[in-house]
Amino acid sequence: MRTETIVQSAYLIAGILFVLSLAGLSKHEKAKEGNRFGVTGMAIALVATIWLSLSRAADPTVTLGLIVVAMLIGAVIGLWRARVVEMTQMPELVAMLHSFVGIAAVLVGYTSHLEAEAAGEYTAVHSVEIFLGVFIGAVTFTGSIVAFLKLSARMKSAPLMLPARHWLNLVAVLVSFALMVWYIQSHSIVPLLVMTAISLAFGWHLVASIGGGDMPVVVSMLNSYSGWAAAAAGFMLSNDLLIVTGALVGASGAILSYIMCRAMNRSFISVIAGGFGQEVVVSGDTDYGEHREITADGAADLLRSARSVVITPGYGMAVAQAQYPVADLTRRLRERGVTVRFGIHPVAGRLPGHMNVLLAEAKVPYDIVLEMDEINDDLADTDVVLVIGANDTVNPAAMDDPTSPIAGMPVLRVWEAHDVIVFKRSMAVGYAGVQNPLFFRENTQMLFGDAKDRVEDIVQALAADVVTAR
Ligand code: NDP
Repeated sequence: MRTETIVQSAYLIAGILFVLSLAGLSKHEKAKEGNRFGVTGMAIALVATIWLSLSRAADPTVTLGLIVVAMLIGAVIGLWRARVVEMTQMPELVAMLHSFVGIAAVLVGYTSHLEAEAAGEYTAVHSVEIFLGVFIGAVTFTGSIVAFLKLSARMKSAPLMLPARHWLNLVAVLVSFALMVWYIQSHSIVPLLVMTAISLAFGWHLVASIGGGDMPVVVSMLNSYSGWAAAAAGFMLSNDLLIVTGALVGASGAILSYIMCRAMNRSFISVIAGGFGQEVVVSGDTDYGEHREITADGAADLLRSARSVVITPGYGMAVAQAQYPVADLTRRLRERGVTVRFGIHPVAGRLPGHMNVLLAEAKVPYDIVLEMDEINDDLADTDVVLVIGANDTVNPAAMDDPTSPIAGMPVLRVWEAHDVIVFKRSMAVGYAGVQNPLFFRENTQMLFGDAKDRVEDIVQALAADVVTAR
C-alpha cells in the first residue's frame, strides 16, 4: 500500500478518536476514557505525520534529526510546566498555549507565502488561506497573551476603554479585508505585513477591552480561535487531520463560549465583537453597614441543628486546596442524616469545570454535585449554605444593581437560605473587583481565615461530638 494511503487511513482513525475523546470528556464518568481516546489519537497522528514527512524528505536523516530535537525540547518544557503548574494557574497556562497555536499559524502562513513565491505558483484560494491563517493566528496570539497577563494578574483586569473602540475594531476588520483583495491580486508581501501588524493590535485590543468578570468567556473564545488558527494552518499545509482537529477545537470552543455566554447572560455576538458589557458605570462606594462574624465552633453548632446544607465553592476553595476537608465534612454531615448538596456556578473558579474537577479529586459523589440552575430554586428551603471561597458567583448585586459590572449575570441565590456562612480571609472583593452586599445581609455570618483551616476546625468540632458520645 502507498504511504499516502496508510497515512490518510491513520488520520481518519485519529480523527474518529478525537471525536470520541470530546464525547467522553463531556461526562464525568467517561472523562478518563475520553482522555485515553485523545492520547491514542494524538499518538497515531504524530507517528503518521512524522512518517509522511520522512517519506517526502530529500534527506530523511536530517529531517528525522530536526523533528526529534524539536520534540525533545517541546517535551521537556511541556513535562516541566505540567509538573509544576498549580491547579489555580491552569487558565493562564491554557491561555499561553493558545498563543503558541496563534504564532504557529502566523509562521506557517509566512512560510507558505515564501514557498509560493519561490515556486511562482499562486492561486486565489491558496492566497486566501494564507491571508486568513495569518489574520486568525495573529489575533489569537496577542489576544491570548493579554488573557495570560490578565489571568496571572500581571495586567489589570479592568477593561481598557479607548474612545470609539468599536469603530476601531470595525476599521481594523474592513482595512484587513481591503488588504486581502490587494494581496490576492498582487501576491506582494506588503499587504500581508501590514495586515499582520493590524491584526496583532486588533487581538490585543479585543481582549484588553474585556473586563475581569467576563474573562471566562474570553478564555473559551480564544480556545475556539486557536482551533480555527490550526484549521487554517491545515489548509495551508494541505493536511486533512489538522483541518479536522482544528475545526473540532474551533467548534467545541465556540459551543463552550455560547454556553458560558448564556450562563453569564451575555450576548454571544457582542463577545465575538469584543469589549462587551462595558456600558455599565461602576457604582461608587456604597455603605452596606456592618458585617457579622462567626467562629468555627459557632458554624459547627449551626450545622449540628441543620437538616439541609448546600455548599457553594469558589476560587478560594481551589487556592486553599480545601476540597479534601470539604469532602470530609460532607461525609460526616451525611452520616448524621443531613442532606448535603453542592451548588456549582458555571464560572466558579478560574476555568470551566474547575470546581467539578476539585470535588471529583476529593471523591465527593457526583450525584450531590448540582449545577446552579438545578439548585437555585431549592436554596430558599435550605437551612445552611456554606460559601467556601466564592464571591462574584454569589453576589446579589448582579441581580439587584443594574450599575454593577456584573449586572445581569445569573448567580447562586444563597441569601435565600435560612443561614449563610461565608468562608474567606478578609472583606476583599472577588475577581470582578466589586463589593458583595451578601456579606452584610442579616442572615450572613463571615468565617474569616484560610478556607482549609476553617473547614478542618469545623470537622474537628464535629468529630469531638462522636468521641464524647462514646
Ligand atoms: P472570586 O474570584 O469572585 O472570589 C474568590 C474569593 O476567594 C475571594 O473573595 C477571596 O477572598 C477568597 N479566597 C481566596 N483565597 C482564599 C483562601 N485561601 N481561603 C479562603 N478564601 C479565599 O470567586 P468565584 O469563584 O465566586 O468567581 C469566579 C470569578 O472568576 C468570576 O468573576 C469569573 O467570571 C472569574 N473567572 C472565571 C473563569 C472560569 O472559567 N471559571 C476564568 C476567568 C475568570 P479573600 O481574599 O478575602 O480570602
